[in-house]
Amino acid sequence: MKTPILYIVIPCYNEEEVLPITSKEFLAKINELTEKKLIAPESRVLFVNDGSKDSTWEIIKKLADEDEHFIGISQSRNRGHQNAVLAGLMEAKDKADITISIDCDGQDDINAMNKMVEEYLNGCEIVYGVRSARDTDTFFKRFTAEGFYKLLNAMGAEVVFNHADYRLVSSRVLKEFANFKEVNLFLRGMFPLVGFKSTSVYYERHERIAGESHYPLSKMLGLAFDGITSLSIKPIRIITGLGIFISFLSFIGVIWSVIMYFMHHSVTGWASTTCIICFIGGVQLISMGVLGEYIGKIYLETKARPRYIISERTEKNMEIQELDKE
Ligand code: UDP
Ligand code: MG
Repeated sequence: MKTPILYIVIPCYNEEEVLPITSKEFLAKINELTEKKLIAPESRVLFVNDGSKDSTWEIIKKLADEDEHFIGISQSRNRGHQNAVLAGLMEAKDKADITISIDCDGQDDINAMNKMVEEYLNGCEIVYGVRSARDTDTFFKRFTAEGFYKLLNAMGAEVVFNHADYRLVSSRVLKEFANFKEVNLFLRGMFPLVGFKSTSVYYERHERIAGESHYPLSKMLGLAFDGITSLSIKPIRIITGLGIFISFLSFIGVIWSVIMYFMHHSVTGWASTTCIICFIGGVQLISMGVLGEYIGKIYLETKARPRYIISERTEKNMEIQELDKE
């Protein structure tokens, strides 16, 4: 296998305090991996400025002037972390053989990259960086973050536990990923959908070098909600289930009110009113669930996701023909 060209993709939003520090570490890592012959000398550090309001973009431009290993792209406005990562990955797709996305705040251990590249060389197309310990996080952050992954999985959005957006992805996976046209992005739930051989590499998460997190609880809840609604229609199923359950209860309620009526324990009109309320409540929820099922189907159709992805062929010639076409 030829030595792969690596692009490290780094989203940056108002990171003037950390960039001067971490950019040096990224460059050192590229140089180290190149010396070890794990990656090709054409490898790059690709910064994606996500519409920063401070001097982040000026710093990136300066870095690019100083060293050819640094390159940058800038989004016209702030679009959020997920979109910034996607922009970087799509930019790198045709130039690199592998990409590693990582935050620029020094929280993710860049030394895990060695293991990631080795796993790629062993045949894995996606390598997920997984946090082995959250000792440096506060109890609250740890509790909410782990709750986040559990909630996502319970709601039918499959994600790798404790994996954020620190991952190695091959250009081959990125080319297939480019066919996922949806605009609501939840990358860590979407990459498992692409498939191919994958594995995890464990690392310890550090504290932010400087500046503040852009992911307070409110944003994390927003991300969880986006993740669930972009990947799964399980909430709709829950409404249908609730409707069936309430209908069942109302059926008991109807029997109960009829018994009360015949035992003369009720005032006139009570039994019939109760029956109607119970009945209508159940019927409405079931109907909403059924409508929801159709809306869910429409929703999934509008995403126009690829219906299949071929990973290998026995006929080698076909692969060559396809490459020729490209
Ligand atoms: N980020 C971004 N756009 C945003 C918010 C954050 O590109 O709108 C970047 C940020 O610069 C950092 C990464 O996404 O590199 C993760 O953000 P942060 O460290 O604030 O989140 P946390 O690690 O606390 O979850
Ligand atoms: Mg961070």
